[in-house]
Amino acid sequence: MELYKLTARELIEKIDKKESNAGEIISCLGKRIKEVDPKINAYVRLSEPEPSISAPGPQPSTPLRGVPVSIKDNICTQGYKTECSSKILEGFTPPYDATVITKLKNAGAAILPFKTNMDEFAFGSSTENSCFGPTRNPWSLEAVAGGSSGGSAAAVAADEAAWALGSDTGGSIRQPASFCGVVGLKPTYGRVSRYGLIAFASSLDQIGPITKDVADSASLLNVIAGYDHFDSTSIDKEVPDYTKVLGSGIKGIKIALPEEYFVEGLDPEVKSIVEEAVDKLKSLGAEDKTVSLPHTQYSIPVYYIVATAEASSNLARFDGVQYGHRCAKPQNLIQMYNKTRGESFGQEAKRRIMLGTFVLSHGYYDAYYLRALKVRTLIKNDFEKLFSEFDCVVTPTSPTAAFRIGEKIRDPLKMYLSDIYTISANLAGLPAISVPCGFTKNGLPVGLQILAKPFDEEMILKVAHAYEQATPWHKMKPKL
Ligand code: GLN
Repeated sequence: MELYKLTARELIEKIDKKESNAGEIISCLGKRIKEVDPKINAYVRLSEPEPSISAPGPQPSTPLRGVPVSIKDNICTQGYKTECSSKILEGFTPPYDATVITKLKNAGAAILPFKTNMDEFAFGSSTENSCFGPTRNPWSLEAVAGGSSGGSAAAVAADEAAWALGSDTGGSIRQPASFCGVVGLKPTYGRVSRYGLIAFASSLDQIGPITKDVADSASLLNVIAGYDHFDSTSIDKEVPDYTKVLGSGIKGIKIALPEEYFVEGLDPEVKSIVEEAVDKLKSLGAEDKTVSLPHTQYSIPVYYIVATAEASSNLARFDGVQYGHRCAKPQNLIQMYNKTRGESFGQEAKRRIMLGTFVLSHGYYDAYYLRALKVRTLIKNDFEKLFSEFDCVVTPTSPTAAFRIGEKIRDPLKMYLSDIYTISANLAGLPAISVPCGFTKNGLPVGLQILAKPFDEEMILKVAHAYEQATPWHKMKPKL
C-alpha cells in the first residue's frame, strides 16, 4: 500500500521494520499534497517557496521516529509562518514554538512547514471564513470540510497528512472530523498547554489531535498532553499512557443519551445512523439510558456571549503595530489602527469583535456577560450530576452531515447552529471525541460524539476504540 495511506502508527512500524524511513515518508506526503491539494485546499501558502522541514530528532530512539505532523495555522511554529488564515497576520513568522510543537519535536516528529487552513482566527464551522479560500470536503468537493480546523481534518481524510493538530473552542476539532470521516479529540480544558496557540476564547480553547483512527489519537495525545508553566491554566496532573486502555472492552460501561440532543433540528438520517451506533455500543456490552441535560438550550447563546467577549479582547492586540499587516500611509495613529483593522479583518471577525465589545460594555456587562457565566455554571453542573452516575455521554457530533459550500455563509445564525452539540463540552471543560459512525445516502460521513468527565480521556478513547474496531467506517477512503 502507498505510504500516504497509512496511519502514523503504521508508518512508525514500517520505520522499525526498516521498510521505510522518515525522509521517504515526508517526500511521499509532499507528492500526495501536490497531487490532490489543488482540489481540496487543506494547506495554505503552498505556492510560496517552502522553508526546509524542521529536522526530525534522533529518529530511531524517539517515539515518533521522524513521522511528520500537520499543524493548524493558529499554532505558533518557529520560523514557519502562522497567520490564522487572516490578512491581519500577513507575514507573521513566530520567533518561538508553541509548547505542543516543542513537545512534538522532542518526541522526534517532523513539523510540516506549510500549515493547515482554517476559519480566520478559528471563527466558523466551515473554513469558508479563511483569507485563503474554503477547504473542500474530500468526500464531496461541493461540500464544506467543516471548521474551523477544516484544513487539518480534510488533510487527514485525503491522505495528505499522517495526522494533524487542530484547536477546538466550540467544536472546531470534532465537527470537521465528523464532516470528513476522521477522528477528532478535544482534551479536557487544561490537559494540553495553550502556550503558543493564538487565542480565540482563552477559557474555552484547547489543542487536540485529528487522526485516521483512535489509536493514533491516543498516541498523539500522549505526546502533547501535560503541565506547562508557560500556561497558567494547564493542570499539573500525571499524563497516563492513553494507548494502554485501548482494547480493554466496554462491558458494563454506562452511557447517558441526553434527550435534548435527539430532537428537532437533528437530520433524520444522521439520527438513525447515530442510533445504530448506539445499538452497536450496546451489543459490545455497554448499557444506555436516556437522560436530560436541562440547560442544553442555553449553550449556543451562552457560548456566543462568552466566546465573542473573550475574542474581542484577545483580538485587540492586532492593531498594525507589532505584527502582521499595516495599512498604507496613515495620517495619524488612530487612523492607522482603524484602517489596518478595517481593511484586514474579515466579516465574521468584525461581527465577533462588535458582539463581544457590546456584551462587555458598560451597562450590558451584567445583563449579558455575567449572566452567561452563571448559566455556564449551570451547564457544567448538569454534566457533573450525570457523571456521578454514568461513564460517558453519547450524542451526534453535528446535527447534519457536511453542507454545501455557500449554503450557510450568509446566515450566521444557521452557521452557529451547526455547533449545537459540540459547544457544551467547551463550556463545561470536558474531554470529547468524534469518531466516524457511518455515511449518509449521499456518501457523506457522520460522526459520533463521546464525552466523559474532566481528565477521563481514557474513557472516551476506550469507548471510541471499541466502536471503531467493531465497524468498517475508519477504513473507508474518499475517491480523489
Ligand atoms: N464554530 C464555532 C465558532 O464559530 C467554534 C469554533 C471553534 O471551535 N474554534 O465559534
